[in-house]
Amino acid sequence: MQEKGTISIHTENIFPIIKKFLYSDNEIFLRELVSNAVDATQKIKRLSSLGQYQGDLGQLRVEVSLNEEAKTITIADRGIGMTAEEIKKYINQIAFSGATEFVEKFKEAKDANELIGKFGLGFYSAFMVADKVEINTLSYQDGATPARWICDGSTEFEILPGDRTERGTEIILHINEESQEFLSQSKIQEILDKYCSFLPVEIKFGTKTETEPDGEDEEGKPKYKSIEKDNIVNNPNPIWTKAPADLKDEDYLAFYKELYPFSEDPLFWIHLNVDYPFNLTGVLYFPKVKNDFEFQRNKIKLFSRQVFITDEVKDIVPEFLMLLHGVIDSPDIPLNVSRSFLQADSNVKKINNYITRKVADKLSELYKKDRTSFESKWQDIGLFVKYGMISEEKFYEKAKDFALLSNTDGKHATLEEYRETVKDTQTDKDGQLVYLYTNDPAKQDSYIQSAKAKGYDVLLMNSPLDNHFINQMEQKLEKTSLKRVDADVIDKLITKSDTPPHILTAEQETKVKELFESAVNKSNMRVEVESLSPDELPVHITMDEFMRRMKDMAQMGGGMNFYGSMPDSYKVAINGNHPLIGKILSADGDDTKAKLAKQAIDLALLSQGLLTGADLTEFVKRSVDLI
Ligand code: ADP
Repeated sequence: MQEKGTISIHTENIFPIIKKFLYSDNEIFLRELVSNAVDATQKIKRLSSLGQYQGDLGQLRVEVSLNEEAKTITIADRGIGMTAEEIKKYINQIAFSGATEFVEKFKEAKDANELIGKFGLGFYSAFMVADKVEINTLSYQDGATPARWICDGSTEFEILPGDRTERGTEIILHINEESQEFLSQSKIQEILDKYCSFLPVEIKFGTKTETEPDGEDEEGKPKYKSIEKDNIVNNPNPIWTKAPADLKDEDYLAFYKELYPFSEDPLFWIHLNVDYPFNLTGVLYFPKVKNDFEFQRNKIKLFSRQVFITDEVKDIVPEFLMLLHGVIDSPDIPLNVSRSFLQADSNVKKINNYITRKVADKLSELYKKDRTSFESKWQDIGLFVKYGMISEEKFYEKAKDFALLSNTDGKHATLEEYRETVKDTQTDKDGQLVYLYTNDPAKQDSYIQSAKAKGYDVLLMNSPLDNHFINQMEQKLEKTSLKRVDADVIDKLITKSDTPPHILTAEQETKVKELFESAVNKSNMRVEVESLSPDELPVHITMDEFMRRMKDMAQMGGGMNFYGSMPDSYKVAINGNHPLIGKILSADGDDTKAKLAKQAIDLALLSQGLLTGADLTEFVKRSVDLI
């Protein structure tokens, strides 16, 4: 009865190849074997439901067990089992995938797809950690006899009659010398938690002790007893496998907690569910964004038919949504393939587009359904939306209708609404619409007040991406430019034809310029005398918008380009029409004039946080004298 043979493969010995190249991560042997056990279990369920298996299904659990003394790990299932013939066919002929034939046979079955093993050489990954592997199996087929297969990792194998009496398969791994780390309860638990948490069939691994209430003692105090329970490692029915209509908010929130026990509740979520032209299910959550958003990446888990694959979802999920949390499950994503292949794969591209569209639709729906709540979440959502608008043309087109701009009064407006609001007041004499913004309301307060005094609105642009978003808006919005409120005096930021007349004579102007130039006395500060409204401050210190953006960009890029290496350069605008300038000009003696000019400059510097060190000390001293 005993049979010996050689595993039919093309290469002389495939195991070293499997060990070294195919699976750099050797812990996945457990994922592969448990997945096979789950597949075999699903198959018997299906056969039973199709009426092609009449026997009793019994307890359909997959059981993983560890024997530290014998140095074995066993994976047992009550699936379809295999006959000796099938072992030869499916296990020995490596290149032959049994699933193909199974699917052929049950084409009519609607969910045939779910039965296809995607892992190719899955079973042989056992040899990454074992120097001997045994299969004990009994097929579900009528009159089948049990079979036993033993292989020591060479291409030689043995098939013997088995002694199994229950339908199903047991895979016994004799763990090799280098892989003893896997002979630990906690290690196996860890791997099962990682890959098998949501497999569709219950996975049992040992037992656990739980305490339960056990009546009261003589004094009436509650008593407890400990009981041993089967330790089930997975949740076989995670929410992404259910219909959205059957789920409540609590279910989504509870699942979020299951995935990320230490996270705050998410803002909202999107249930993905598509089966044509590709198959994809999942739930994506919008988290509350913290400032350390860089560290929150890799929070989306990728599954294939409930088997965890990876949390590296680059390419499948658009770059701007990498901060989302949740799960994606698709049997149509090629696994175990190189990155470049993934990028070129047309399904991956389609999935990426689908996710982008779903996210845009969901945001649009939230915006339309409850604008107030949408606005309250904008602080957190805004970052995603802006990132998406900057990086994906298609997303921009959808998001431009619900993306919000916020102003310094905490009011929100869509791009269209904002344009309507400011178009009459903020269009300059050349027909250019100017949006004013601040990135630091506290520091730029005096400029904001000047702008408001003119009836202008000031946008708040202080999120990490706003520099890019500003550029994007300028490219997209017609005849519109954005200027930071301190980039120049307000009348120069939005130039109107009715500029106030000069009060000073040309001679006086020269005198004022000289006075202030010697008071400033810094090479990076250029003095200009301008005729502004008398209500404006006497001295403004501004930094050119273009120059500042170039410097910001150089800084963000980390490199030093031409602009990055230049010192900050400012314009000191003296308001020739302000009464104080007249007073300084008519003050007694050159000393007093110089002192007053210096005082006026220092006040402006102080309001910009630019007065420091010895200059600040001197200012305080001079102020005391003047008082
Ligand atoms: P794949 O799962 O991709 O087909 P594997 O090498 O993991 O590749 O398995 C090869 C075949 O062996 C499976 O398709 C299946 O027919 C059979 N097989 C593996 N494990 C079991 C099991 N526990 N019960 C029944 N059949 C199994």
